[in-house]
Amino acid sequence: MEPITMTIAGVAIVVSASVAWGINKYQAIKRKNEEILIAAISLHVEKEALQKSLSTYAETYSLEEPDSELIERFKNKIKDIFRGNIENEFLKRETVEEKRLFAQQVIYELINSIGVKVDNIEFVHEELKGAFGETGSSNGIVTVRLDEVLLVDDPIQLIKTACHELKHCVQIQTITNNVWGYSPQRVAEYLYSWQNYVSPTSLECIEAYEKQIIEIDANKFVDAVFDL
Ligand SMILES: [Zn+2]
Repeated sequence: MEPITMTIAGVAIVVSASVAWGINKYQAIKRKNEEILIAAISLHVEKEALQKSLSTYAETYSLEEPDSELIERFKNKIKDIFRGNIENEFLKRETVEEKRLFAQQVIYELINSIGVKVDNIEFVHEELKGAFGETGSSNGIVTVRLDEVLLVDDPIQLIKTACHELKHCVQIQTITNNVWGYSPQRVAEYLYSWQNYVSPTSLECIEAYEKQIIEIDANKFVDAVFDL
């Protein structure tokens, strides 16, 4: 297919037709997510009690001591690589392929810095259905998928999503091999949460999806890495 020139954040970049399609799609997904959030908020006015107890639960959830070490290593690695400007380092890579190779190298450095098991990193688009990334484990093979559109359109979100998905990989590994020393309770919580995973498939599920332990855990982890 013919390459297409797009202007992203003031910079012209030549992308394949499929990536151009994905970028437009990504903008639509961002708008859709905002709509869903607004709808979910109004829906919850009627479910105030449930929302309250879910929020209390999320607020009282704390990361454990082993997380502090992992957060420190991610922070240092990100500081080393990007020197405070993620977007700039991605802008230095001109083509999508260069950005992909760079992102892969960064993610492997993050993986190696904490010694987590990840078998595949894939950059995809259509399969993610509105999410920025996903992590799956099948027959012991752990695969992280990230939205390839983020390579061009939102590198900061890409690195945040990568950190989020890598925390999911830590959770999965902890269940079978607790090398970082999480408490038995936390291991049980990870196991229970992964076995009862709720996908964000409908409006009613959004709150349930966000308030399940493995998501609260991964989100708090990313907030700590990025000092949010
Ligand atoms: Zn997640």
